[in-house]
Amino acid sequence: MSSNPNAQGFSTASIHAGYEPDEFYGSINIPIYASTTFAQNGPNDLRNGFEYTRVGNPTIVSLEKTVAALEGAQFGRAFSSGMAATDILFRILLKPGDHIILGNDAYGGTFRLIDTVFTAWGVEYTVVDTAVAAEVAAAIKENTKLIWVETPTNPALSITDIAAIAELTKGTNAKLVVDNTFASPYLQQPLALGAHAVLHSTTKYIGGHSDVVGGIVVTNDAALDEELLFLQGGVGPIPSVFDAYLTARGLKTLAVRMERHCDNAEKVADLLDSRPEVSTVLYPGLASHPGHEVAAKQMKRFGAMISVRFAGGEEAAKKFCTSTKLICLAESLGGVESLLEHPATMTHQSAAGSQLEVPRDLVRISIGIEDIEDLLADVEQALDQL
Ligand SMILES: *Cc1c(COP(=O)(O)O)cnc(C)c1O
Repeated sequence: MSSNPNAQGFSTASIHAGYEPDEFYGSINIPIYASTTFAQNGPNDLRNGFEYTRVGNPTIVSLEKTVAALEGAQFGRAFSSGMAATDILFRILLKPGDHIILGNDAYGGTFRLIDTVFTAWGVEYTVVDTAVAAEVAAAIKENTKLIWVETPTNPALSITDIAAIAELTKGTNAKLVVDNTFASPYLQQPLALGAHAVLHSTTKYIGGHSDVVGGIVVTNDAALDEELLFLQGGVGPIPSVFDAYLTARGLKTLAVRMERHCDNAEKVADLLDSRPEVSTVLYPGLASHPGHEVAAKQMKRFGAMISVRFAGGEEAAKKFCTSTKLICLAESLGGVESLLEHPATMTHQSAAGSQLEVPRDLVRISIGIEDIEDLLADVEQALDQL
């Protein structure tokens, strides 16, 4: 997973990196340091650097180190949500008068943050199809400070060639940030492909159990990390120590969960692809997917997010959403349980009328790790009702 030959394997690092059993009791897991403040040996003589939890807490630091190790990064900073992490990154990389390039399919909240808060702050944006490198190249200007890439995208599962976009930033003022939430560090490590920083909503695959909200940014850029640390403490959008613990606990099984997620998704995608009720299956693992080759090059497997467009249009899409019995109609993704949603009326409602508008016949499915027979039977009976 890393160019460092001494680095641990992915599963080993997800279980061990960032924490050694402590010298007092030998606790196997990182303790939850539920303490706002830390006793000092003398005025400003800190014990192991800890002072006040907003500016650093051992439970949170442990999670940061683990995720950084998994992404092949030197630095990681955890936040209270993926959006809090995104906001902090934008504040660091964009100032009034700057320009950001954004994909035409993106997490709805990211687009909304730029389109409302940051444009009011004097930041301008250009929306392009980042899967077409020439479109990105043509959009780069003198004041372009940030290229924001999601791959696979939410919800169209479009694939962007990370190395090709990283190449374009050379000799420009732009930094490339990859939102790696859909792939997880198990399937894709963008820093090794030339990205300057990677963002995760740890709410999704990293936490993995739909019970904790969080975000993290990792990078090898010491100056950027210094600013992340400053705003983490200066603004305060840190995760609670309980959430950091839960996220780290989920992370220990990421590799086994992702293998099962991918096994299941490949089979569900094949079933959907074989049915007349479905007009298009958007899944990078299918040879027919336009991003299949790039995905095969930069991802270990193809992930477990599938979007489906229905021949019967919006009505059929909505009917499907209420016809599954096991797969639950709910927002979010990346948990052990399968979920589905209708982006046009749910997660991506705010993109209506914009260049990021989602087709109304599309349903997004997050394939969980249940038994494949049960998932296939559920999809089949729901399709039969259309
Ligand atoms: C969920 C999500 C986010 C936002 O993360 P939160 O933890 O919900 O704040 C950002 N990007 C992607 C791709 C997501 O799926």
